[in-house]
Amino acid sequence: MKIRYNKYSDYLLKRYGEKVYKLPIKLSGTCPNRDEENIGCHFCGEEGGSFENLDPAMDVKNQLKTNKEYISKKYNSNKFIAYFQNYTNTYMSFSIFKESIYSSISDDIVAIYISTRPDCITNDQLAFLNRIKLEYDLDIVMEIGLQTSNYKVLNRINRGHGLAEFIDAVNRCKSHGIDICTHVLIGLPGDEILDTIETSKIVSALKVDQIKLHALYILKNTEFGKQYLDHKLDLISKEEYIERVILFLRYLSPEVVVQRLIGRSPLEDSLFSNWSTSWWKIQDEIINIMELNNFYQGDLFDYLVPKEV
Ligand code: SF4
Repeated sequence: MKIRYNKYSDYLLKRYGEKVYKLPIKLSGTCPNRDEENIGCHFCGEEGGSFENLDPAMDVKNQLKTNKEYISKKYNSNKFIAYFQNYTNTYMSFSIFKESIYSSISDDIVAIYISTRPDCITNDQLAFLNRIKLEYDLDIVMEIGLQTSNYKVLNRINRGHGLAEFIDAVNRCKSHGIDICTHVLIGLPGDEILDTIETSKIVSALKVDQIKLHALYILKNTEFGKQYLDHKLDLISKEEYIERVILFLRYLSPEVVVQRLIGRSPLEDSLFSNWSTSWWKIQDEIINIMELNNFYQGDLFDYLVPKEV
């Protein structure tokens, strides 16, 4: 079977010469979009983006140690990525930010990934990360949520930022030598297939380094959860999700590394998740359809080349 898209596991193997595992870290911070009166993005649950973390009262070093012991036993691994995962990991005082990053550095950490939102990254943080990258020979990746390029949908789901803030964040990260992984939700209510294509084109044009695709899962105690229970939410079908992911990949620059084609959420917290189908079955379906039709990531990536007369 030919490789149909630029898989993250292949990238890690090539980049670090062996399998590398992410170690999640949960800080006790929050997100400017959930602070005070803000209710957050309509899909955001109480965990703020991840369900696999330890107690944030545990310090960074101990969280890493605990997760490292667990993963090393399971996979016999030697190299790791420190992954600041929940909420907005740049929304804190600069001194706490620096201390958290320093605490995550050790000989077996090859990269630091930091989840955040585009309107919450300062130039001081970026300059500091650039110094860390050079001094410790680490890869630094900002995981920035965009979700969709459709700014009207961003507004409707209460993202609290538009497309311009994302473009600005990517440009500033790039100018400080920091890589970017972008999170995209395929099929948000109000998003059309053209928005899926445009989002793929925008991340390609901006030379984003990595991408994570997700289906919209509906968590309990969220605004989308309320709308779902009131039958006011239009969700796309599994077939449409698969069709859109394939189109997204076909328009995506072949240089972009694809971290995932679909996410997952724990059943006990969800009202709706991946059409009650396991994520790997959906991933297999995507790959099979690409195989059957001889589709590849980037086979429609011709739109940035100036047309000749
Ligand atoms: S930016 Fe992230 S953490 Fe903040 S409300 Fe939105 S999904 Fe939640």
